[in-house]
Amino acid sequence: MAIRQDDNRPSRRFGLINLLLIGFGVLLLFSNFLPNPATQVPRVPYSLFIDQVNADNVKRAYITSDQIRYELIKAPAEGAPTVLATTPIFDMELPQRLEQHGVEFAAAPPRKPSFFTTLLSWVVPPLIFIGVLQFFARRSGMGGAQGALSFTKSKARVYVPDEESRVTFADVAGVDEAKTELTEIVDFLKTPERYVAIGARIPKGVLLVGPPGTGKTLLSKAVAGEAGVPFFIISGSEFVELFVGAGAARVRDLFDEAKKKAPCIIFIDELDAIGKSRAGSMGVVGGNDEREQTLNQLLTEMDGFAAKDKPVIVLAATNQPEVLDPALLRPGRFDRQVLVDRPDLSGRRTILGIYAKKVKLAEGVDLDRIAQATSGFAGADLANLVNEAALLAARAKRTAVEQGDLNEAIERVVAGLEKRSRVLQDDEKRVVAFHEVGHAIVGHLMPGGSKVAKISIVPRGMAALGYTLQLPTEERFLNSKDDLEGQIATLLGGRSAEEIVFGEVTTGAANDLQRATDIAEQMVGTYGMSDVLGPLAYDKQGGGRFLGGGNNPRRVVSDATAQAIDREVRSLVDRAHDRALSILRRNRELLDGIAARILEKEVIEGDELRDLLAASVMPEEIGAPA
Ligand code: ADP
Ligand code: MG
Ligand code: ZN
Repeated sequence: MAIRQDDNRPSRRFGLINLLLIGFGVLLLFSNFLPNPATQVPRVPYSLFIDQVNADNVKRAYITSDQIRYELIKAPAEGAPTVLATTPIFDMELPQRLEQHGVEFAAAPPRKPSFFTTLLSWVVPPLIFIGVLQFFARRSGMGGAQGALSFTKSKARVYVPDEESRVTFADVAGVDEAKTELTEIVDFLKTPERYVAIGARIPKGVLLVGPPGTGKTLLSKAVAGEAGVPFFIISGSEFVELFVGAGAARVRDLFDEAKKKAPCIIFIDELDAIGKSRAGSMGVVGGNDEREQTLNQLLTEMDGFAAKDKPVIVLAATNQPEVLDPALLRPGRFDRQVLVDRPDLSGRRTILGIYAKKVKLAEGVDLDRIAQATSGFAGADLANLVNEAALLAARAKRTAVEQGDLNEAIERVVAGLEKRSRVLQDDEKRVVAFHEVGHAIVGHLMPGGSKVAKISIVPRGMAALGYTLQLPTEERFLNSKDDLEGQIATLLGGRSAEEIVFGEVTTGAANDLQRATDIAEQMVGTYGMSDVLGPLAYDKQGGGRFLGGGNNPRRVVSDATAQAIDREVRSLVDRAHDRALSILRRNRELLDGIAARILEKEVIEGDELRDLLAASVMPEEIGAPA
């Protein structure tokens, strides 16, 4: 798509009034510095003046608050000036002294500002103020004729699809349901008459909901590309400005522009930036008026346009649908919601295919394997992965991307870039080694669809000092209670190993604990897996679960129930902790052995890791998981 800035924006021209105002302002500033003819008199030190008075050589003096001008009776030298000036010093005896020496003197009244200065200082500030107001008034008017600042001009960029750079549905993969829904919109944009004739009401607003990087922006561009209509794109945060009212004026401006180019699409990215629930934002200081006005304007505009044969369709994207103001979701507004979720195995395979075509792949590269290993990746992560692999290959001076590059790229995307430069102290390294091996041994013995594929104590990214990589052996959509309990135990394996080996724990396990507690809470609150509490969903499903947010407020429950939930979560985690401890105690020699090995090699993977872990045994007291 070709990007171009909207071209009929106003020229930056100052009006005559503004020029005049600035001229006045400058004059006002300088009126105080204008050379005063009176000061052209030669200045002499005060002491000289006193000497001359004492020598009876001063005829008369004229004293003001900032200078004394005086006239000599006799010039000190031939042709020297007889009128001199000096700066007064606080001197109570001066009048007496002058009188003694017969100097005729007078003092000036305190200097009054000239009429001109007074006029300026009273008249100019209000004028400037009015001028600024006029700017704004004029700018926010229809079409914003002209002006120096474009505060209220919508910043929307317009894409006009052209043939070669057009994005189409073929460029988006793994989101088939969303595509099906949007095909209808494309159809409407292409042939509105058909729908109008039959009396169908096509949605004005379609909300794309899904985690970041899943292709929401891409999809809406594809809608425009398929329909061959102009596409206005603006981010919700661009509406929110310092000046109250600017956002609302921008919305108005955007819709005006769009109506001129109809049929077309307006795409509002990050709708949550303006569309936050008004009720939910109470108590937040500042900025709310502005957002509310902007939101109201948006609602008004969406209710307003109704030209059937010239449709303007508003697409919007958000990854926080639960915070949106319910007013946005009413019929006639964003009443259609399309879920754009992370792709599944076959979706990932297709997306990888799209991006693999853009790089040179070596013979025999198996993209299926990569797709299998990237469960949970969004489209953007996969695009990024292929690019990383290409960079790695290029850096190693290979001519094509090989399987190894892709594998390494997965790890990079997963755990951030390798940071060999970050050096761990030896004792820290030992802790990390035991911690990771703890995860690995417990993870290996726990049920569930994944196997431990790699242990590393090379620090990566910002947070991870080491990591244990578990790859799923199959694509799984459902987890049993056993699986989840196994996951919790695995997460606690690292901390448990530290407890057993060092008798104390470090801060390195914080993230593990967070995740373990989250899983336990979901088991009780969302999946109804607790025997005590029964199959009830105690968490309110706000639509945010799939986004990985996970902080759903609880349903209203009695205090007793809340306590029971807490106890149940606690006991799930405690049980898993006990299991991890007993597994690691039973396999203490293996734990020491693998830890020693990894301290040597930093990374253990593949066959070696499999053989090592194969020696682990399940302790008798656990047997079948509880
Ligand atoms: P979102 O708007 O959902 O955060 P984007 O549409 O901006 O995500 O995606 C960023 C980039 O990731 C896209 O430009 C595209 O290159 C890639 N991408 C994301 N999802 C997909 C997908 N489903 N199919 C193909 N490419 C995708
Ligand atoms: Mg986006
Ligand atoms: Zn850990």
